[in-house]
Amino acid sequence: MTHWLSVVVATPAHSAVAGPLTYRSESLLGPGSLVRVPLGKREVLGVVWEQLPDSGGLAEAQAKSVLGALDGLAPLSATWRRLVGFTASYYQRSLGEVALAALPPQLRELSTVQLARRLKRPVKDSASAPPDARQLVALSAQQTQALAQFEADTRPALLFGATGSGKTEVYLRAAARVLAADPGAQVLVMVPEINLTPQLQARFEERFAHLGKERVVSLHSGLSPAQRLKSWLAAHAGQARLVLGTRMAVLASLPKLQLIVVDEEHDPSYKQQEGARYSARDLAVYRAKLETDAANPAHGPCRVLLGTATPSLESWQATITGRYQRLSMSERIGVTPSSGDTTSMGAEEFSDGPPLGKLAPPGGSEVHAVTSVGANGLPKIRLLDMNHQPKHCTLAPPLLEAIGARIARGEQSLIFLNRRGYAPVLACHDCGWKSECPHCSAYRVFHKIDRTLRCHHCGFTARVPRACPGCGNVDIAPLGKGTERLEEHLAELLAGVQRPDGGALRIARIDADTTRLKGALESQLASVHAREVDVLVGTQMIAKGHDFRHITLVAAVNPDGALFSSDFRAPERLFGLLMQAAGRAGRDALHSEASEMWVQTFHPQHPLFAALKQHDYPAFAAQELREREAAGMSPFGYSALVRAEARTQEVAQGFLNTAAAAAQTQQLSGHAQVTSYPAVPMTIQRVANIERAQMLVESPSRAALQRFLAAWQPVLFETRQQGDFKSLVRWAVDVDPIAI
Ligand code: ADP
Ligand code: ZN
Ligand code: ZN
Repeated sequence: MTHWLSVVVATPAHSAVAGPLTYRSESLLGPGSLVRVPLGKREVLGVVWEQLPDSGGLAEAQAKSVLGALDGLAPLSATWRRLVGFTASYYQRSLGEVALAALPPQLRELSTVQLARRLKRPVKDSASAPPDARQLVALSAQQTQALAQFEADTRPALLFGATGSGKTEVYLRAAARVLAADPGAQVLVMVPEINLTPQLQARFEERFAHLGKERVVSLHSGLSPAQRLKSWLAAHAGQARLVLGTRMAVLASLPKLQLIVVDEEHDPSYKQQEGARYSARDLAVYRAKLETDAANPAHGPCRVLLGTATPSLESWQATITGRYQRLSMSERIGVTPSSGDTTSMGAEEFSDGPPLGKLAPPGGSEVHAVTSVGANGLPKIRLLDMNHQPKHCTLAPPLLEAIGARIARGEQSLIFLNRRGYAPVLACHDCGWKSECPHCSAYRVFHKIDRTLRCHHCGFTARVPRACPGCGNVDIAPLGKGTERLEEHLAELLAGVQRPDGGALRIARIDADTTRLKGALESQLASVHAREVDVLVGTQMIAKGHDFRHITLVAAVNPDGALFSSDFRAPERLFGLLMQAAGRAGRDALHSEASEMWVQTFHPQHPLFAALKQHDYPAFAAQELREREAAGMSPFGYSALVRAEARTQEVAQGFLNTAAAAAQTQQLSGHAQVTSYPAVPMTIQRVANIERAQMLVESPSRAALQRFLAAWQPVLFETRQQGDFKSLVRWAVDVDPIAI
């Protein structure tokens, strides 16, 4: 008997065939089945979306048949399909694009026989029992309370925990409970960038080793295609109990998902920046709701736990309105609870928290009110007013002195500068020539190590010219500083300083340039942990997440740029980054009292720094939220950016403006509640000889914006077809953009 099926396949985002296609099949294949189907001259992987009552008007002769099903693979669940459907419609992409991108690429290439062989591999069941309470560290009072509160309230939870307050232990315990309560349960733990957190991965693998090696898997783009397929299959079959992954993992097939943890929920890398530009953090919250609705009531709800020391303002606001619950941990591990002065105490001596029922009063607000500098075991923040320091100095003398003192005591310092390379620009003082990229509206960065000028936008690289290309002057000089130059400079400035053992000072640098080779980052981090390094210089790669035990001084060299950025999220990012960086200092309670974060700034009066000085995220958030509310910006308003790329700005902007005008004329659904602004060039207007423009679309109503964007899509397609815009290279919609 002939059955009719709608099948989604990977179609290019802007092709005419964006929806599911109709195929015929002799056998009955349920929704979610993976199949191979013909598409044009190719044979492609597809997912059966629905069974159709008939051919839907497709002539019998034209109908193509399903070529085969991937037998042995259970169909993708209805919840998974709903999640994919939501992602595609919310982020304005085709169903096929989202569905197929969520599957491991190698699934497309395997023959049925190869697949069957992989699926047959047995998974060993574990023999050992989970570690019992006595083998684990005793929880702090705040950890105990956070867990109790999480258990008691099923709303999405935001764990607002200071750096070093032991958030990871909370994740581990929450996961352990879910896994122990149901032998089939699955847990998804998401991290921003897995290669930055080898420690975290190791802690999860170690804690859940009793489940068996194959039941804890990771899922991220750094895996080989074969490893990724293996992890995905294990998750899909329910064999993997715990999946540790990056943003892509939010779309993995996890039939018995009962807990999603999103570590460092504020991190921008949760937002996909190409194709379907989804926010994995937001999808995690949505997915937990879908899974809960679909769950067998016996399983209980699927929970979601977001954690960070510096929440995104969206998540923070949700804890104010009550959509999320807030779990606060204001104190670092090892610090005597609520003592303002920091009596040092080894973490291992720290005793168990009070038993349940005798908890401290809920809410952390009183703690923030009393937070004095250096309290709660957090480093003391020192703002260094650069207006009173020698002109053009990179590191002010008092800071240098402080670093020198740390070295002499055998302690480590971390110097943070968010710009890699030697110098951001090379310039000629005679004629004014600068190292512009010929293909982009940006300067090429000078990398001294191989004497190249490299464009960080298009990759264009050339050797440094011997003389100024403008006037022949041989004296062209670097302007400004990147990490490479800072490292060199530090070596000169600290030349006289000795380590306590009399040995020579060791400076190391960690940034995208020093960690290009596989395994390089791990080995560099290991040498920091092993105290083979006295001063560590680097970009944001070193500011995030690492549990360094011997760093007692952190310095931000030049953070001012972000204070006056045109992007309304720049202060939020800067505050988060500086708090994270500060969080790398004094993580060992023995050192926490003496640990410091230095910030070199020309604007010490800026309110952002006032809040930073007090480690007062709530004060910073309150200030930012007031401004955003007044301006109707996220989280009080919703926005999307439509970006267009063309050979000329005229075409790129013309396309956007024409499509926006058509939307007005046609009175598209939702348009009355939506404001579109005229198209403007993007901040970096030209990259690789392509001109880029964008248009901001805003609405106080998320639903209205969604309706408008959906109705606008076909208009954008039509506009693209017009003669004037044939030369448009591409366009795309970014819903809830994180950078403007
Ligand atoms: P966060 O993620 O909040 O910055 P971590 O989870 O990295 O903090 O914890 C900081 C350090 O404290 C880690 O070395 C961790 O092993 C340790 N730690 C966490 N909880 C406890 C505890 N209850 N007792 C002792 N040490 C702990
Ligand atoms: Zn010149
Ligand atoms: Zn370039």
